[in-house]
Amino acid sequence: MRRPLIAGNWKMNGSLTMAAELAGALVVKMKGAGTPAFDMLICPPFPYLAAAAAMIEGSGIQLGAQTCHAAESGAHTGEVAAKMLADVGCTHVLLGHSERRADNGETDAMVRARAEAAHAAGLVAVVCVGETEKERDAGQTIAVVTGQLKGSLPDGITAADTVVAYEPVWAIGTGRTPTEAEVQEVHAAIRAELASRFGKAVADGVRILYGGSMKPSNAKGLMALPDVDGGLIGGASLKAEDFWACAEAAG
Ligand code: PEP
Repeated sequence: MRRPLIAGNWKMNGSLTMAAELAGALVVKMKGAGTPAFDMLICPPFPYLAAAAAMIEGSGIQLGAQTCHAAESGAHTGEVAAKMLADVGCTHVLLGHSERRADNGETDAMVRARAEAAHAAGLVAVVCVGETEKERDAGQTIAVVTGQLKGSLPDGITAADTVVAYEPVWAIGTGRTPTEAEVQEVHAAIRAELASRFGKAVADGVRILYGGSMKPSNAKGLMALPDVDGGLIGGASLKAEDFWACAEAAG
């Protein structure tokens, strides 16, 4: 009943030419696919959002940014407001990615404020959570992820305005992944946390993506898990063939 979402996080990669080529290649595949059984989202760097929006128009591919500021406007040099993202065609925004938590000191409270701003602008907030290797080794994975959810999710979320992405920090860009059983265990705990705070109907509807070294060879097994509703894909989203293969594994 939850439609898989395949999201590509391009991070700080590419060029205008590459963005246009990659988006264009995905549009061709999307058009050839007829009625795909998944939703597809691409999240290019800020400067390429408008060009990507023009490329994917009418294809069914959705557009997201990689962060937004919590304020509506004002003296925040270098920042981008959620409304500006909506203005250029974004429907989604990634929030609290571990690279932003590490590089920019984003706390759970900051992620929550950004998610509230995203919702106010009509964007779907894709809220990222995940443990470090040290935390996993210490047996703290569920406590850490649950704590991040408590702090990062606004009150009153709905299945339509929020997606959760579970991304173990140690699996991002490393080629390593948890076992399928470990992924399912965390996703089930995330859904249980959502149910206890927002109710069963919301928890049953919210899509929970797995992210961390997802690629064509492991996508099928990961996405077949009962509480995995798609993927947030970094490296493999930069090649149309690989990203598409992951998407087909979900459908
Ligand atoms: C990510 O950056 O969100 C990610 C999951 O990266 P990768 O797929 O490269 O591990």
